[in-house]
Amino acid sequence: MSRNAISDSALKVLYRLHNAGYQAFLVGGCVRDAMLELQPKDFDVATNATPDEVRGLFSNCRLIGRRFRLAHVRFGREVIEVATFRAAAIHEDDDVSHDKEGRILRDNVYGTIEEDVWRRDFTCNALYYNIADFSIWDYTGGVRDIERRMLVLIGDPDQRFREDPVRMLRAVRFAAKLNFELDPLVRKAMHANVALLGNVPAARLFDEFLKLFQGGHAQRTFELLWEFGLFDQIFPQTSRELEQDQDFARFVKAALQNTDRRVAADKSVTPMFLLGVFLWAPIRRIAARYRAEDDMTESQALNLAAYEVASEQQRRIAIPKRFTVPMRDMLAIQPRFLATEGRRAMKLLDHKRFRAAYDFMMLMSEVGLVDTAIAEFWTEVQTLSADKRNERFQVQTRSRARRKRRPRAKQANDATE
Ligand code: ATP
Ligand code: MG
Repeated sequence: MSRNAISDSALKVLYRLHNAGYQAFLVGGCVRDAMLELQPKDFDVATNATPDEVRGLFSNCRLIGRRFRLAHVRFGREVIEVATFRAAAIHEDDDVSHDKEGRILRDNVYGTIEEDVWRRDFTCNALYYNIADFSIWDYTGGVRDIERRMLVLIGDPDQRFREDPVRMLRAVRFAAKLNFELDPLVRKAMHANVALLGNVPAARLFDEFLKLFQGGHAQRTFELLWEFGLFDQIFPQTSRELEQDQDFARFVKAALQNTDRRVAADKSVTPMFLLGVFLWAPIRRIAARYRAEDDMTESQALNLAAYEVASEQQRRIAIPKRFTVPMRDMLAIQPRFLATEGRRAMKLLDHKRFRAAYDFMMLMSEVGLVDTAIAEFWTEVQTLSADKRNERFQVQTRSRARRKRRPRAKQANDATE
């Protein structure tokens, strides 16, 4: 493994531990990625120093986590995660607890590297790079599995998925990202244990959702999630619609491809966009029901339905409000793109969610769900000067003098123009 692949901050942490007499290894995704000649995303360090001892060595260090007690060493924006070796914790009286399905709730039993390795998930994630002599320590055949591009779970797959069902999502994510094949035993155990994902707290799945769909391989990840019935576990409402609505399926696919293209081009991606796409069909269905029952505009109905569908979705994935609120705006705006005349239509350009809503509408038009004339109109008007815009929207411009004389209340009520 080339040392050039390791960040200066990670090297600093490794050498400080080493010079203080501790064992210091890089471990996990960074070793795996470096061996595959991919740029590691972040660096995890494993050591025999306890979290308190690590804190003693670094002033820029904070201890975090209850489930796993870890040290975070900060260098500007970069955080190096330093974990103490842990034992598998199989004894009743150890500081580890399981729920009735065998899921690990907490484990803080320190151990040696020989013990630490067996609690890791996949063989490719269980390689240790020793800073003392730059050697790779491989207890599980990880090097061979990387060479043959095979995702292999350490230990008995059924048991490992029972301990932590999130490993099924991780399996899919790594297979998609690394272009690895899933070991047949892993595939079998995934099919058998998919329902266990329902026991995982929604709070833990938001992070996982981000990693699944914003890592640049959303489309492949989605296909695998679907193949194993995992998608239905995390987005049940979306899954039901996808089964019966080909247009919606094409729309979702286009959105996933679009997300991957953006990530590849280093453009920003916001989770609220893809959430909006996933929840769009369920939201539209409920909005239509609201409109049949009550007298409300399409935007109002969409807004209410978005609230209801997002609340239901929260039971599986805890989505922070800062994403659900803009998502509702983005979706509720959609009917307004159909109106291309008048001041209210023109004002849409200044809406704070215009950009996201426009991208959403363009994606719909890409798969034939919005008229291309509408898409072209909204694309073109953005490039026009104020005068030309008024013309395109057929907005009457008043003389300055007249506008001054106009009563305030009437001026605000531009919806009637
Ligand atoms: P990436 O950072 O590229 O997403 P990673 O492999 O580094 O992938 P992390 O979530 O950062 O994944 O975890 C670091 C390491 O911790 C993993 O490589 C694995 O060895 C171990 N690990 C993480 N989550 C689990 C888990 N749920 N079960 C067992 N081991 C895990
Ligand atoms: Mg990592």
